[in-house]
Amino acid sequence: MRVFSYNVVLLKIFSRRCGIVDTAVKNMASENLKVVKFGGSSLADAQQFRKVGEIIKSDTRRRYVVPSAPGKRFSGDDKVTDLLYSCYETAKKGENIDPVFARVTERYYAIVKELDVHCDLSAEFEYIRSALIHHAGRDYIASRGEYLSAKILSAYLGFDFIDAGEVIFFNEKGEFDSERTNETLTECLALHEYAVIPGFYGTMPNGTIKTFSRGGSDISGSIVARAAKADIYENWTDVSGFLMADPRIIKDPEIIDTITYRELRELSYMGATVLHEDSIFPVRFAGIPINIRNTNRPEDPGTMIVPTADESVSDRIITGIAGKKGFSVITLEKDMMNSELGFGRRMLQVLENEGISFEHLPSGIDTMSVIVNTNALEGKRDRILSNLCKETEPETISIEDDLALIAVVGRRMISAKGTAARVLNAISKADINIRMIDQGSCELNIIVAVSAGDFEAALTAIYNEFIK
Ligand code: ASP
Repeated sequence: MRVFSYNVVLLKIFSRRCGIVDTAVKNMASENLKVVKFGGSSLADAQQFRKVGEIIKSDTRRRYVVPSAPGKRFSGDDKVTDLLYSCYETAKKGENIDPVFARVTERYYAIVKELDVHCDLSAEFEYIRSALIHHAGRDYIASRGEYLSAKILSAYLGFDFIDAGEVIFFNEKGEFDSERTNETLTECLALHEYAVIPGFYGTMPNGTIKTFSRGGSDISGSIVARAAKADIYENWTDVSGFLMADPRIIKDPEIIDTITYRELRELSYMGATVLHEDSIFPVRFAGIPINIRNTNRPEDPGTMIVPTADESVSDRIITGIAGKKGFSVITLEKDMMNSELGFGRRMLQVLENEGISFEHLPSGIDTMSVIVNTNALEGKRDRILSNLCKETEPETISIEDDLALIAVVGRRMISAKGTAARVLNAISKADINIRMIDQGSCELNIIVAVSAGDFEAALTAIYNEFIK
């Protein structure tokens, strides 16, 4: 026994000296480890902080916590991040920052007071105020929202505080430096059993603070989950999971119980959002599932986002439906197009030269259409048309706007015969004209295009066909 412990000690010393973490010990420790991220609505006021505290304390495996800045308490309220941006703008104009800065300090002071937690923020506020007056960077100012949330939460929970600026890094180009971050963060977490790490920001090589894009605490949570080798990344928000369709179109849509990363990407691409799009990559890389949970209804199981799904979980063919308006179709017709080598390439080259990426490319023997985002054509239409004429010499060419795309996504479609027929039937029964159909060879989704005016009715028809 003594020899064994001696060896472990030696191994630890050796690992530290070599600058590597004792992975054997770390792996043991990470069994059943959860990383939990709480969004702004989950931390909007002291009452929400209490709920968060209860959730964390109810499960000792919830060891690493990534908070957002306090969000809206009611509709029409301000998010602290927006208030901080507005402090920055005010300071930049050389105007008096105190009225808007006071709104930030009041939010935090109220939380500290109501929680009755020992956390003196006055020196922090003085420092931030002075940074504002001395024109500190926009990202630094915005990042203080998460920083202060994390300070309070760590005091409230009795967890260690790890400043994200010391463990999350960007490179010279301002891109997230995943390998440097993962190495440093893994080593750092190994030294803290329980810790709070603010979301949303990291450090540039020159030491300045940089934030991710808006909603970026989701990314921070995912980064921490990867570094901690967590078994699960719980993302706590104000909905009980990912909805099967947009609630502004379908009343009370069902919640998706399990969705794969690939399905989620298809739906997010079409506008369905719960998570920041980039937050998927770190955990996907590490094969860690994400569980979307509701802070206000912790008893709900939420949605599991997994690398591959256990097919016995649900018998639904469709996982979700999402769609967007605002597409245009450019159509070219030319006799014998099918035998003209390079036609498609020349057509796409014209778009590439304009910096336009395409969404879909439906084609016939003598026609070729390309669906693009209407906004991308702005100010470029005439040039594109004339270059297409020059490069491809079509018989006819047209651009039609006001198209909507609907993606019907489901990993089980590949084994369910007749799914496409059901989608098309549902739309035609609703008396809607289908403008284009596209099914990828992976059979993960079927995309249909309809006129923008038919968008809501078509989406409802598909939902009712499969879900009701
Ligand atoms: N507080 C930041 C925002 O409002 C980041 C986040 O909440 O994820 O965008």
